[in-house]
Amino acid sequence: MFCAQENYNGEGSEFSVIAAAGSYASFIDRHVSDIDDARVADALSHSLDKRRNLYGDDFITLYFIGNANRDFALFLDTGITLNETDQRLLDVFCSNIAVGLDNVMLVGRLHDFAFYDDLSKLPNRTRLVNILDETLASAARNDVTLSLVDIDHFAEINDALGHKFGDKLLLAVAARLQSRLGDELIVARVGGDTFSVLGGATQVNPAMIGALFNMPFCIEGQEVQISATIGLVRLDDHEGSGADALKDANIALKRAKMQQRAGHFYFARSMGIESRQRVLLMHALRTAFEEGKLSIAYQPQIDLVTRQPVGAEALLRWKKDDGKFVPPDVFIPIAEYSGLIINLGEWVLRAACDELVSLHGLGFTDFIMSVNVSQVQFRHPDFLDMLHRVLSDTGAPPNFIELEITESVAMQEPELLIKTLTQIKKSGISIAIDDFGTGFSSLSYLQQLQVDRLKIDRSFVAEITSSSRGSSIAEMVVQLGRNLGLAVIAEGVENERQARKLTSLGCPLAQGNLFALPMTSEQLLDWLKNR
Ligand code: C2E
Ligand code: MG
Ligand code: MG
Repeated sequence: MFCAQENYNGEGSEFSVIAAAGSYASFIDRHVSDIDDARVADALSHSLDKRRNLYGDDFITLYFIGNANRDFALFLDTGITLNETDQRLLDVFCSNIAVGLDNVMLVGRLHDFAFYDDLSKLPNRTRLVNILDETLASAARNDVTLSLVDIDHFAEINDALGHKFGDKLLLAVAARLQSRLGDELIVARVGGDTFSVLGGATQVNPAMIGALFNMPFCIEGQEVQISATIGLVRLDDHEGSGADALKDANIALKRAKMQQRAGHFYFARSMGIESRQRVLLMHALRTAFEEGKLSIAYQPQIDLVTRQPVGAEALLRWKKDDGKFVPPDVFIPIAEYSGLIINLGEWVLRAACDELVSLHGLGFTDFIMSVNVSQVQFRHPDFLDMLHRVLSDTGAPPNFIELEITESVAMQEPELLIKTLTQIKKSGISIAIDDFGTGFSSLSYLQQLQVDRLKIDRSFVAEITSSSRGSSIAEMVVQLGRNLGLAVIAEGVENERQARKLTSLGCPLAQGNLFALPMTSEQLLDWLKNR
């Protein structure tokens, strides 16, 4: 017996043998017309045409229904005529088999969908994890490196040149990764523009992979020069599952992206611990915030000549249940990263405004409140509305509120920043650049920003008494402030020598442990009253 399927070509159709047994075994993959038997072709076309079984005198053809030209017929040399009952049984048998085959095909396709990328036909993330598990369980793991290769600026290319173009570019990258690095390697597509190459360290390393991107890709007759950022994990010292290895590679990739595009980073175990701790800390911070366990400390700012207070900076404090403080330098980045800073920042601003209103009510009517604002808050579309909302809710006088933004923020997205700052200034609130001197602000840019105050970073304050250099950065900032007509405040003043030096340089304002530590609201009131 044999199975035949109809192939449709331009002119008509012909039958080819897709499976065979017995005296027909040698005909597999050949045309049915090669079989020298007049009954055969006739019977087959009849059966496929009528889409049903055909019972001859000494043969039968069974028809198996299938989707999209996947139907086929089986020719069986019976040598006998089947009775009615046998024929009905075979009819049932055939339709059951057809359903079964359909299911097999569906399962096959599901398998492909589950384990292979539809566009590139490469193994997908799930399949890669399986391969990684197998690799990790074998002795071969010792020399194996897992890499993630992420195309730089792919989203922009996709947007600018269209998704079709983007797809072709991805295919070209996939082909190059596959063809140039050697057959033993496994290339997978684990995300939109992220591929993975798994294999021996002599091929899977930043130099070899990076070199693949030296030549441009030719897409639709256009040359496209792209670069890739690479995260790598050496499997020999990896502890954990394949999924963990992929997670580690992702951490390394993120780190590489943070540094620079077209760079690379090898995963180090400390990075994984860091990131897991960060997650724990993030949950703890959220809980602490929701349970009202965060507080604000106020550090006074003084006039260097009179040594009288002019205001205070609001500084966020997180005291854990064990009594230890988590430094803001640790938890603020986590709050920014997780988005919690939006609510947290509003809460700080609200509390600082309430404090300001209360102090003004108690007679300290010149008191100014400085509040730190993170870049994530600044970029949030609701920021200005939030600001106005807090002002009107608390009744705080905007002329006595100052927002501190760090210099690194001041450099990003100038147009957006200038626009936002202009809006803020319209409300009467003033702006200080925090940690000034540590970033890269250009002078012309500073003028455009219309800031009111520069805050000399404490590292430069420490430097004025320790360094032997004649002219310090602090001195330059003071002069800069004078030239641009900006107020200047020095932060982190710890001793009398620094204070005197700053005074002699003409720095008008200061903040630091020498004058007052950050303190609670009650302590601040006492401190102010005792002046
Ligand atoms: P910053 O805005 O530059 O704040 C000044 C930091 O210097 C504070 O650290 C303060 O406690 C510390 N400091 C003050 N005087 C002295 C001194 O004499 N010597 C030394 N060595 N340090 C002094 P803190 O409170 O740990 O805050 C660290 C940073 O966390 C702040 O730097 C600020 O960037 C950020 N931060 C604090 N609270 C908030 C907040 O509510 N929102 C945002 N976005 N960031 C905040
Ligand atoms: Mg500050
Ligand atoms: Mg600062």
